Amino acid sequence: MSRKPIIAGNWKMHNNCAQSVELIQGLKAELKDIEKDLLPEVVVAPVFTSLYAVDEELKKCACGKIKLAAQNCFYEEKGAYTGEIAINMLKDFDMSYIIIGHSERRQYFSESDEMINKKAKAILANGLLPIICCGETLEQREQGITDKHIASQITKALDGISSEDVAKSVIAYEPIWAIGTGKTCDSIEANRVIKMIRETVKSLKGEAAANSIRILYGGSVKPETIEEQMAQSDIDGALVGGASLKADSFSKIVKGAMA
Ligand code: PEP
Repeated sequence: MSRKPIIAGNWKMHNNCAQSVELIQGLKAELKDIEKDLLPEVVVAPVFTSLYAVDEELKKCACGKIKLAAQNCFYEEKGAYTGEIAINMLKDFDMSYIIIGHSERRQYFSESDEMINKKAKAILANGLLPIICCGETLEQREQGITDKHIASQITKALDGISSEDVAKSVIAYEPIWAIGTGKTCDSIEANRVIKMIRETVKSLKGEAAANSIRILYGGSVKPETIEEQMAQSDIDGALVGGASLKADSFSKIVKGAMA
């Protein structure tokens, strides 16, 4: 079963409008000579305040090579939710994906599995696709409960979602101890956990969904690590933080995923 790889850049809380435009222009320039069909799906997730500017820049002859994502959303349609953004508002832009359940949101903003499940359902109901993040802390890994913890996160995130919708969705396995630390998870181990996630999806939603869902690795992905990561049987791409903030390093990762 061949799954189209995804290389997604999570810009986190970096870059004002001008800086975001500069970054996307740099990325467009790096990818301009590569045919779209040869590329993985390339996705960028700027801060909310840069979405308009980046979307406009992508409409100017990016030839559909780069897709737009948001870093978060709220699941309600509208109302008294100060500081939140509804999915239908994100649809003002040519949005494809929304990242949910990132460990930073779970840790600093107390996002629960239940909220992540509500967000996933609302995103799919709006015709967009969730990138659902999961991952263990170093403490959980040392306690030997990595698989149990991640299977539980996935089971809760996918609760009540149809097999057809799960098949289109994306999961990102991001060991928390590898995020922003420069410490990449060994590719064989990352592949093992991702296989376990696929098995979990299979037991919950059936074989077709498990074979179709794309499962990315995230955690200090760099140009030097991507080829080995992409060579693994179950790793379908990468969610990239730090290395997505420079057109040069992000495009090298994109190109490494084509190799
Ligand atoms: C991330 O935050 O999703 C991430 C993987 O960050 P980094 O690549 O910087 O570890």
